[in-house]
Amino acid sequence: MERKSFQLGDVVLMKKNHPCGSNEMEIIRMGMDIRIKCVGCKHSVLVPRAKFEKNMRKVLRSASEDSGQNDGAGGALN
Ligand SMILES: [Zn+2]
Repeated sequence: MERKSFQLGDVVLMKKNHPCGSNEMEIIRMGMDIRIKCVGCKHSVLVPRAKFEKNMRKVLRSASEDSGQNDGAGGALN
């Protein structure tokens, strides 16, 4: 089983699109449940951690850059 790692502030790619058409979500709260915010429409939802891990595909942008995974594609968020 693959262990997914993510942290507060990460932007993740989900398997399913949000109704607004975006499938990128930002993690805005961590706990037993995880609150994610749609990058497209700014709508936030609370999902159980297990469900979140099942539905996320990968981390697109990590909040911390010390893991060296940044390929320099320009992380300007505005
Ligand atoms: Zn949305």
